[in-house]
Amino acid sequence: MTSYAQTVCPSAPQLADLVPYDPKYLPADAFLSANENPRDVDEELRRQIMRALREVDFNRYPDPLANNLRDMIAEANGVSRDQVLVGNGGDELLFDIALAWGGPGRKFLNMPPTFSVYENNAQLTNTEVVSVVRDENYDIDEEAVLARVAEGDIDYAIVTSPNNPTGRLADEQFILKLLESTNALVVVDEAYFEFSRKTIRPYLERFENLLILRTFSKAFSLAGVRVGYVLGAPSVIREFIKVRQPYSVDAVSQAIAQVIYENRAQFEPGISAIIAERSRVFDELRRIAKVVPYPSDANYILFSVPQAQRVWQALYDRGILIRDLSGARHLEDCLRVTIGTEEQNNAFLDALRVVLADLAREQLQN
Ligand SMILES: *Cc1c(COP(=O)(O)O)cnc(C)c1O
Repeated sequence: MTSYAQTVCPSAPQLADLVPYDPKYLPADAFLSANENPRDVDEELRRQIMRALREVDFNRYPDPLANNLRDMIAEANGVSRDQVLVGNGGDELLFDIALAWGGPGRKFLNMPPTFSVYENNAQLTNTEVVSVVRDENYDIDEEAVLARVAEGDIDYAIVTSPNNPTGRLADEQFILKLLESTNALVVVDEAYFEFSRKTIRPYLERFENLLILRTFSKAFSLAGVRVGYVLGAPSVIREFIKVRQPYSVDAVSQAIAQVIYENRAQFEPGISAIIAERSRVFDELRRIAKVVPYPSDANYILFSVPQAQRVWQALYDRGILIRDLSGARHLEDCLRVTIGTEEQNNAFLDALRVVLADLAREQLQN
């Protein structure tokens, strides 16, 4: 043991019981745990990316606001540059939300079970979390949410649509009612909207309190590069620019994301294949005894199964890595599988059938 000449005083008190985000990456044959796109960027696009990277000035700071990429995203969404902000993954922008709309004495309305990052960000910024838990099908308790915001003290809310990890879209009429009934900032996290083909974007002009979050990490195969963006009112984007890290989106990521976004039509067949596989995997899961899959509008399926933790481990022992959520609040017995290629999905389904047959046999013997 080192004996320090000086020790350090304690860190900020809100860190005391904070659990760092852990994606639980492990080596595996089939990675079906992180909702990534199973198809990597293809060779021709890679060559285009390499050509773009040759032009990057590594010695210069990047454009802080990634204006070229920002203009492309603005044009594609029929909005102006000042309604778009690019971030270091959607995760950076989620943190910026807590910095700009949260803080001591302020309140965030959450609808768990949902993306755990929201609650961590609130805790980090000393923002109070008000939770309205979803119903037994993991649908939003709409009446309870509307009743709670009617009290008038919520500063921001996040509606994840489709919701991660449970999979379903939020109802558009509900989101509109929510936007009408509160002046809180309502963030609609559309990280998976390419797989649901539904967006709340047409209402941006009508509601100053609407902010839409999107990412390049899922549909566009770019989880390794870290690019996301928000669409919102210029007045809201201005506040985000005050709290963000000035150079959070590096020049390399900007260059790569521009090539990908210009060529985003090429990702369409892959997205369609994932949507078709989602429905096939759902039907197959429904046919397996004791497995209850939840309908999904995204690129993953949540399902419950008895002895979920053991099932997860047995799948992993067969080279299939999925996400174990059985230890999370409101998600007892739940596992989440990302939709992969047809071969990966079949490997997962075959392994799951074998694992459950083994467990059933073991129970008979006991
Ligand atoms: C993946 C994800 C994001 C953003 O991910 P980044 O890789 O940081 O862009 C945001 N929200 C949800 C619900 C997600 O699942």
